[in-house]
Amino acid sequence: MQCPKCGSEHIRKNGHRRSKQNHICVNCGRQFIDQYTPQGFSSEIKRLCFKMYVNGMGLRAIARVVETTHTSIIAWIKQIAAKLPDAYIPEQLPQVGELDELETFVGRKKNQVWIRIRGRSFSARDLGLGRRRP
Ligand SMILES: [Zn+2]
Repeated sequence: MQCPKCGSEHIRKNGHRRSKQNHICVNCGRQFIDQYTPQGFSSEIKRLCFKMYVNGMGLRAIARVVETTHTSIIAWIKQIAAKLPDAYIPEQLPQVGELDELETFVGRKKNQVWIRIRGRSFSARDLGLGRRRP
């Protein structure tokens, strides 16, 4: 059974409403009775969504493909991701990085080059890049 709001499967029974079993989503607190529960998606579909996600598809795009809400997709990806082993220790800086976006800026102060990745800024020195011209 899935929460109709967030797609979580972490559901608890929560008394009865008009003689029907009432449920509450542990994840988001949404209450609902059995008849509101949408058809569950198979684990195969969920894995497919995860594949699309790791291949760079947006959550809303995936939701359009499988005809569900993007909040369901987020919940499934979290579920699958929680089962995956840790691939790396985040504290360790990788030797080789791949950037989605690269923005450099040469300011007046000391001519420092800044690189911004998804809203986080690093100085060129943080990344071990030289400041010499190519
Ligand atoms: Zn929920």
